[in-house]
Amino acid sequence: TLFTLKDPSLVRNQCFIGGEWQSADDGKVIAVSNPANGTVVATVPRMGRSETRRAINAAEQALGGWRSLSGKQRAAILRRWFELLMQNQDDLAAIMTADQGKPLAESKGEIAYAASYIEWFGEEAKRVYGDTIPAPTSDRRIVVVKQPIGVCAAITPWNFPAAMITRKAGPALAAGCTIVIKPASQTPLSALALCVLAERAGVPKGVVSCVTGSASEIGEELTSNPTVRKLSFTGSTDIGKVLMAQCAGSVKRTSMELGGNAPFIVFDDADIDAAVKGAIASKSRNAGQTCVCANRFLVQSSVHDAFVERLAEAVSELSVGDGFGEGVQIGPLIDDKAVAKVEELVRDAVERGGRVLTGGARHALGHGFYQPTVIAAASPDSQIFAEEIFGPVAPVFRFETEEDAIKLANDTQFGLAAYFYGRDISRVWRVAEALEYGIVGINEGIISTELAPFGGMKESGNGREGSKYGMDDYLEIKYMCMGV
Ligand code: ADP
Repeated sequence: TLFTLKDPSLVRNQCFIGGEWQSADDGKVIAVSNPANGTVVATVPRMGRSETRRAINAAEQALGGWRSLSGKQRAAILRRWFELLMQNQDDLAAIMTADQGKPLAESKGEIAYAASYIEWFGEEAKRVYGDTIPAPTSDRRIVVVKQPIGVCAAITPWNFPAAMITRKAGPALAAGCTIVIKPASQTPLSALALCVLAERAGVPKGVVSCVTGSASEIGEELTSNPTVRKLSFTGSTDIGKVLMAQCAGSVKRTSMELGGNAPFIVFDDADIDAAVKGAIASKSRNAGQTCVCANRFLVQSSVHDAFVERLAEAVSELSVGDGFGEGVQIGPLIDDKAVAKVEELVRDAVERGGRVLTGGARHALGHGFYQPTVIAAASPDSQIFAEEIFGPVAPVFRFETEEDAIKLANDTQFGLAAYFYGRDISRVWRVAEALEYGIVGINEGIISTELAPFGGMKESGNGREGSKYGMDDYLEIKYMCMGV
């Protein structure tokens, strides 16, 4: 390999199906490359429908044994998986930076974040409580129990190659479900490494499988196979809609974590330094490639100039480079298509009157690199107001009143995360309650934690991941009525 690991066996070029490491039936492979320099770091199998069907059958066979364990027994296995993830944190982080590109420190952070979902849901496995309900007549008893949904499928994106998997596999396994995972083709190495450690932790054969390859073929099998009872997807709203439609044919439960278009509002009484710090934290994570990254900075007129000036200064100091480089804060975007999209959004914003204060073009490093950019006085009729940027570009829009801010903030079909900075306590409550978003950061730019429910309103999806609410997505409610 092109990077050194304490345990090179964590890098696999085969898939994990029913507890066996397997190649594609036809031997085909996909090349996995490093977005910082274009070099091929590994190959993984290019699988399709038949291999996916095998994984689903293995998940079905494993289901009975897994769901009949007690929550406490499943918790013990998940605890071992969590510990192995943390023991291998450095290697897992290097694997992630190699195919995802994010700075090594962020990769390490993601591994800890990913592991936290296995830890949390392992603990929650012991707390899947039911209910008793007073019956309408004295000759009946009403009992409610929660049971695992069954075989689950997960389709995950490239921006968080480990955490988006454990957010789904953690609650699925804790609940007593089995799962087939299809990772993004750009970043499959983390997914396979997680399987190596699941196997070592004693997760029984077939409880977790991972299939890499053709998104459409694997996706069609996962969504049409009647054995699969639930699909959890993180990715774009467009693909999410396709998958929901495909799942309708067999009425599968779905959890959808889709696109966002996060407003980041700065009111005139905000602590501007804190707002700039929060803006950098929210915008620069993974080079702007997260669905909760601030997408539109809405700044009250009287503080607009002061805010953009300080933001541009802070953004121009960000260190751009290969994720393995010392002190690097902004890595490459995932591929050339992503860079081309950012270029187009910036071009359009400038054409409609936005002023580039820093950045505004591809970076001299080439490949996936784009300069961290601030655009002042952007126009709300720019494409960048309506679309998810997924790059290190901060467009700032001016507003006059609180009412305007809320109207602009909610003027989108998305509803995942929103942020605002201000100190007037009455306004804080009014604005927090008026924002049509599943997650609201108030004087805070970093909101992700396994302890809180993550998920969106409107076209940003349905379901919640993490927290006590996250388990419900993998459980059925059964009402038992007993005559006595
Ligand atoms: P992004 O814009 O983040 O690349 P996508 O929604 O395109 O997000 O992809 C997220 C995940 O969905 C990836 O694992 C990708 O391979 C998968 N995917 C893309 N197209 C399809 C499809 N037609 N059916 C099933 N999965 C798909």
